Amino acid sequence: MKQRVYKRLAALSSGLVSGAVDFILPPRCFVSGAIVSHQGVIAPHIWRDLQFISAPLCDCCGFPFPFGAQDHMVCGTCLAHRPPYEKARAALVYDDASRDMILKFKHGDQPHAAAVFIPWMKRVGAACLADADYLVPIPLHPFRLMRRRYNQAALLAGLLAEESGVPMLADGLIRKRATKTQGHLDFRDRQKNVRKAFAAKEKHRAALAGKAVVLVDDVYTTGATVNECTRALLQAGVTKVSILTIARVVRT
Ligand SMILES: [Zn+2]
Repeated sequence: MKQRVYKRLAALSSGLVSGAVDFILPPRCFVSGAIVSHQGVIAPHIWRDLQFISAPLCDCCGFPFPFGAQDHMVCGTCLAHRPPYEKARAALVYDDASRDMILKFKHGDQPHAAAVFIPWMKRVGAACLADADYLVPIPLHPFRLMRRRYNQAALLAGLLAEESGVPMLADGLIRKRATKTQGHLDFRDRQKNVRKAFAAKEKHRAALAGKAVVLVDDVYTTGATVNECTRALLQAGVTKVSILTIARVVRT
């Protein structure tokens, strides 16, 4: 009985504290700074400009088709060069609106913003998550991690693990060497830049063998990095790799 009263008092006081905090420091949209109803949501005018990806899609890379397509249809790029992964899925088109939002999350010292993306990623990646054994984030080189203070891919993977129940192997993959920033590189140069840059961590090889892995990152650009990470996991004995990102570049 006493315990129940204490619990009620604790819940009431934590509600009062969070109410007081909200009064003094009202929750703000991490993209625009506008006051929003509660922490972890974005302002309606930011939401309005986002382009969510939905079917019909390339069954492999998740490229959205502008017209109806049969089940399991793949795009011309995947037909010509099938990627090493099974499926890639992204919640949003990477355009001006989503770029601004993701850069603020990635470089703006706003790790709490990761929670905004999780329901979107869970929805679009439901099939990949359903049969996954592990979530593995794309690793940052330690020097870059020191500068940025957090790995945005690991934050996303950690929250997805909590929400989906699929465990995360935070250091399942490691970077063997530093790579150049890829912003201005084309696909061929990106491929060269990341070649053999990743490996499965030795101590996790036994756990990964024969398993299905979902690789988590913020943006799918040309696929060069995720392809290389997929190869490293397949080499370690992983049987199936899927990719889950917040957004992807869509070039027609
Ligand atoms: Zn495709």
